[in-house]
Amino acid sequence: MSLILDLIFPKKCYGCGQTGEYICSKCQKNINILNTKPPQNGFNGGLSLFKYHSFIKSAIVDLKYGFVSDNTNDLADFCVKTLKSKFPNLIKYWHQNNFVLIPIPLHQSRQNWRGFNQSDILSQKIASKLSLDFSNQILIRYQNTAVQARFKNIKDRKNNVANIFSLSPVSGKFKHQNFILFDDVCTTQSTLISAQKTLKISSPNQCWFLTLSAG
Ligand SMILES: [Zn+2]
Repeated sequence: MSLILDLIFPKKCYGCGQTGEYICSKCQKNINILNTKPPQNGFNGGLSLFKYHSFIKSAIVDLKYGFVSDNTNDLADFCVKTLKSKFPNLIKYWHQNNFVLIPIPLHQSRQNWRGFNQSDILSQKIASKLSLDFSNQILIRYQNTAVQARFKNIKDRKNNVANIFSLSPVSGKFKHQNFILFDDVCTTQSTLISAQKTLKISSPNQCWFLTLSAG
């Protein structure tokens, strides 16, 4: 099936348009990789891998609004490759300290409308390729909020997502683990901080964040 689809809709590189892959090796080499963040805003550390621009932005926009979910494999592969080559000590640290990767949930009504949660799919693939624990059962998003991009200032964004998460009954099973919150794009960190505050209610353990890109 995928072979037939590849013939009808050949994959094209988001960077240069060459067919075959969504992110070709030449374009992979030319992307700027961002650095880890020191402890801040209640996080013990964090990492946004790429700047939200260029072909990374096109790939994410396609995924979220163009419903092109088959690019998640290539995006997850590129993330894992970058993490392994540029941040091997961080991966080792996460392995040794029992971290679990948790995607930021969408509200059920938005997920139903879109049909999938792009952060959930991406993080599940990344966790599996890195042999990290994964759970999309810990956090519940109980309020549907306006899209963050509509708000220009940081205060409005913070208010929009304050107290929108709660812990599910299964979260107790993870109380001895450390957490890494995953999202596709991070702009002001407001959503990540809100989720982190909810996680810290149940556990004093470490909370990091990992995002594909930062805007
Ligand atoms: Zn390319």
